[in-house]
Amino acid sequence: MSAFEFAAPTRLGPALDLLSSCAESGRRTQILAGGTDVIVQMRTSDREPRLLLDVKRLPETRQLSIGSEDIFVGAAIPSAELNENPRLASLLPGLMESADLIGSTQIQGRASIGGNLCNASPAGDTIPALIANSAQCEIAGARGTRQVAAADFVVGVGKSCLKRDELLLGFRVKRPSKGFGDAYLRFIPRTEMDIAVAGVAVSMELDEAGVCRDSRIAIGAVAERCLLVRRAGERLIGTSVEDSDLGKAGAECSASARPISDKRGTAEYRRKIIAVLCRRAGRIAHGRALASLEGAEI
Ligand SMILES: Cc1cc2nc3c(=O)[nH]c(=O)nc-3n(C[C@H](O)[C@H](O)[C@H](O)COP(=O)(O)OP(=O)(O)OC[C@H]3O[C@@H](n4cnc5c(N)ncnc54)[C@H](O)[C@@H]3O)c2cc1C
Repeated sequence: MSAFEFAAPTRLGPALDLLSSCAESGRRTQILAGGTDVIVQMRTSDREPRLLLDVKRLPETRQLSIGSEDIFVGAAIPSAELNENPRLASLLPGLMESADLIGSTQIQGRASIGGNLCNASPAGDTIPALIANSAQCEIAGARGTRQVAAADFVVGVGKSCLKRDELLLGFRVKRPSKGFGDAYLRFIPRTEMDIAVAGVAVSMELDEAGVCRDSRIAIGAVAERCLLVRRAGERLIGTSVEDSDLGKAGAECSASARPISDKRGTAEYRRKIIAVLCRRAGRIAHGRALASLEGAEI
């Protein structure tokens, strides 16, 4: 690893000033959250000197609030902290299970959902779950704050919509109501600690009669970035989510995938398993949605 400078501001204003002045002067800056991607990359593939701007001490990126209307999750909260929150696990089980898949217990003590999204890997596990849950990303910069849908945040392999003088504060998700369920499933060749060969997140909302009134399905590791497959969700809307409906949704996922072949699997294999994962994740999300219909108000 080459020499680097380090700053860990405790207030957003000075952090943004630093980002702006570096952007203007052309000095390289990189934001650091848990460092589980950044430090590995600095040791292996990207040794250029830079200023590391640690955002973990900013209150905005560590904020977690579960309100009556929406839920805000700070970008730099370590996934272990999120996974230990029983209210989050019951409200957004699919998003939490995606965070719980990141690395090992040690990695989860550092790794954040914000870092997972900003790293913009096609196989980032939390990204499909954020997309399926219609998460809005809150971004701060010198010109103020703006919101970008998680579905539009990543624009290519390792590339996000963030400008050089911006940072991600966190995500806002609508608080789920009765009849909601979500799920994330990935396939890896090992039992854990591997990168997804394919991943699918499903969210759905059932009405009182058990008919699906809304559904969003997102796929990961089968294109240059994680994708919202609108037509897959639409295949479930207005149905009682039978196996045949999930089969149609899975077929839409396969049709929207544009995978590569690599050492983890061929493109053809990925296209097949993305449909299987969609059916299975859909079944889990449906079970959770039914349980929520029958259970107490969440
Ligand atoms: C052993 C191991 C296993 C892993 N397993 C998995 C896995 O199973 N699934 C998976 O998806 N990933 C996995 N990862 C990758 C990594 O742990 C995750 O991507 C993690 O969520 C990154 O979070 P972080 O807080 O450590 O990010 P960092 O490494 O701090 O940052 C990652 C990127 O995001 C940028 N960034 C971070 N926060 C912000 C912000 N607030 N605003 C703007 N930019 C920001 C950084 O500049 C950097 O480009 C693994 C990594 C290791 C080392």
